Amino acid sequence: MSILSLHNISKRYGAIQALSGVSFEVPPGSVFGILGPNGSGKTTLLGIVTDVLKADEGTYSLFDAPPAGRLRRQIGTLLETPNFYHYLTACQNLQVAAAIKQKPEQDISRVLEIAGLTARQHSRFKTYSLGMKQRLAIASALLGDPGVLILDEPTNGLDPAGIAEVRELVLRLAETGKTIILASHLLDEVEKVCSHVAILQKGKLLLSGPVNEVLAREDYVELSGPDNTVLEAVLARHPAFSHILSRNGHLQVVF
Ligand code: ADP
Repeated sequence: MSILSLHNISKRYGAIQALSGVSFEVPPGSVFGILGPNGSGKTTLLGIVTDVLKADEGTYSLFDAPPAGRLRRQIGTLLETPNFYHYLTACQNLQVAAAIKQKPEQDISRVLEIAGLTARQHSRFKTYSLGMKQRLAIASALLGDPGVLILDEPTNGLDPAGIAEVRELVLRLAETGKTIILASHLLDEVEKVCSHVAILQKGKLLLSGPVNEVLAREDYVELSGPDNTVLEAVLARHPAFSHILSRNGHLQVVF
């Protein structure tokens, strides 16, 4: 069984080929990182699987079935920063979100609890730290108790404390059995929170598989760091990558 399965997905914006023939599978219960430098096609990929964008070519399935509204309701998404009201409390903001998303209001205390915000639920949003704001955004994505969560760059723009809080929340959610698909340009983020990874570069899949197979090599540990140059250097040094690259002249390596 797979939660999400992509078959040869391609997408072009005018002259820009944003995705070329991308295929991989997300196993249930995984924290699946889509890792790649800015512009590598991560957001486009998440847009396609959440039905915000249409692929030019290729297909994908959700829960081993053709994507349908019924299946999409089992997926919570956080693709861009939600518009929370600064003068409303966290709880009131979630009431608004629940009404808009047509999710049960009884769910609000549960998601506040999961996000560790119960004690501050009656504080105004504007008093929240960056990490708390992002945890509230994740709480909002959890309304309706989806089994799968899709997050686009969930720690972008946060301070170090916020990054730690959000990563810890992702790990806690994974422990409860949720499957989490997250896009990140940070190698160390994927190493810290993901069980599986698909690496994109210029719209092509370079590597995918369990993190301990793809990334847990000594040269990755040594080189891991938060910038794209490092990621590209790591990929260039990967022996399997150079082997396949020199063998058939294109950038696809799948473990
Ligand atoms: P990432 O999320 O990895 O930064 P994106 O999916 O946002 O990558 O972008 C992939 C490529 O497609 C980039 O070259 C980007 O400039 C281009 N792109 C993304 N959205 C659009 C758009 N709406 N119109 C034209 N080009 C786009």
